[in-house]
Amino acid sequence: MHLKIGIPRGLWFYDYYPLWKSFYEELGAEVILSSPTNKSILDKGVKNTVDEACLPVKIFHGHVLDLKDRVDYLFVPKMMSVYEKEYICPKFCGLPEMVSHSIKDLPPIIDTEINFNRSRKHLMNTVYRFGSYVTKNPIAIHRAYKRAVEEYSSYKARMKEGNLPINGEFCERYKNKSGISIAVMGHSYNIYDKYGSMSLIDKLEEMGIKIITPEMMDYATINQHTDTLEKKMFWSYGRKLLGTAMHLTDTKTIDGIVYLSSFGCGIDSIIEELVERKARKDGRMPFLLITVDEHTGEAGVNTRLEAFIDMIEWRKRNESNLSTHG
Ligand code: SF4
Repeated sequence: MHLKIGIPRGLWFYDYYPLWKSFYEELGAEVILSSPTNKSILDKGVKNTVDEACLPVKIFHGHVLDLKDRVDYLFVPKMMSVYEKEYICPKFCGLPEMVSHSIKDLPPIIDTEINFNRSRKHLMNTVYRFGSYVTKNPIAIHRAYKRAVEEYSSYKARMKEGNLPINGEFCERYKNKSGISIAVMGHSYNIYDKYGSMSLIDKLEEMGIKIITPEMMDYATINQHTDTLEKKMFWSYGRKLLGTAMHLTDTKTIDGIVYLSSFGCGIDSIIEELVERKARKDGRMPFLLITVDEHTGEAGVNTRLEAFIDMIEWRKRNESNLSTHG
């Protein structure tokens, strides 16, 4: 019988799941994903997480609960850093402890640390530690790792081509629109989680909007822009979002920005402010901030979104005979 490894459909899932899924499947394990976020997952997550946690962390707890009784291992690595000299949110680092403290009777957790601030040798040891839950054969682990990296590269390349992983699955319908272009900014786990985002991307798509997301950007382009900042942006997610906003406003390839933020997120509160300043001041570009938590009402979000798009459409229609930039 195959070993069952459960991967929660939350947080880093949207950035890395093809890497880990392919790695464990290549080693012969069966990978079980939690269901896409739904009301029950959200409610259970909210009930089983400390109040101060942000919505994505609460949703993540809901996904753990969705998996806990049907897998042999839960995959919740301790993510410290995914780029050299950079960090990610402290909640990612403490996630295995947070989950095991909040939820009782969990299966064993694969909580290996990922830290790109350590040596290359350390990183290869990390790969072996991940693999050792399934096999002790280093050759098989190395082969699975190579295969997983190929899968991951192809996933990234598809996102750059404009494929959006809504709930983790690509769908052609979001591609090749030709109307108004809107950058949808926010952490991947906010914008691609259909339920958690209140179908933000679907709503824009139904209005005929062409959507640009940070995952479509080239890393060299992002770095080129963030390297001009006075201080290094050492939060990896922050650098990606800010570099994307800088590039899109400088090149004026979009008509506006919608930023989806989580209430209580320290990183978002800084990055959103910087993105908004860049959009409004330098790009003279419409900017809409949507901040969500478990109490946010969808009707209010719809109204603001529709008004925002109406305003951009009006502006485009009248651009030739009115000064739209004041
Ligand atoms: S970066 Fe913000 S939204 Fe993401 S886990 Fe940390 S606090 Fe939550």
